[in-house]
Amino acid sequence: MSEPPLVRVARFLDRTTAEGPGERTAIWVQGCTIRCAGCFNPHLFGVRGGVPTPPADLVARVLATGTPGLTLLGGEPFEQAAGLAAVATGVRRAGRSVMTFTGYEYDQLREQAASGRDDVAALLDATDLLVAGLFRQDLLDHDRPWVGSTNQRFIRLSDRIEDVPIDVAVTPDRLEVTVTASGAVSVNGWADIETLDALLSGLPARRGKPA
Ligand code: SF4
Repeated sequence: MSEPPLVRVARFLDRTTAEGPGERTAIWVQGCTIRCAGCFNPHLFGVRGGVPTPPADLVARVLATGTPGLTLLGGEPFEQAAGLAAVATGVRRAGRSVMTFTGYEYDQLREQAASGRDDVAALLDATDLLVAGLFRQDLLDHDRPWVGSTNQRFIRLSDRIEDVPIDVAVTPDRLEVTVTASGAVSVNGWADIETLDALLSGLPARRGKPA
């Protein structure tokens, strides 16, 4: 069997509580052809950039964190479905859960899978909780955690993540700010653009919000 392709990794965050239920590891991938207006991560549109990484290395790195789950975001994870399916499958084999964000609709992905896209089918199979749909800046979601707009849907594909507060706003949006020893500032999670701008004014920041 051939090796799965390298994954273009834009960012790897060992631990976060802002990208899904509980404490999770998060991987942002480089490249997205969907290009929603108002996307928080336009620097992840292009396929150039990121660090090409073997899926097996990513599995080992995720498992080494000891977190109970992995979140895949981007960029567009389903545009690197083969490599990420290998990552997600390895992580799930170790008993961890996988949450995947996508700008595609679930029905679109199912159609792709049914028409022979084995990579898409494999990533769906290795995902426990899918967050599907474009980011719509005219439909900002101020209630549900993790998502940016009200059209985006949570779809449970297994019972491995059972306690997701999908319909009630009991889990507030979170914004995480990471400052390294060298003074580099990174942000992930979700907040409206005004809040972000107020928080980050004057700071060199790298944002990390998904599909
Ligand atoms: S919101 Fe997601 S799907 Fe839309 S352009 Fe940004 S990364 Fe791509």
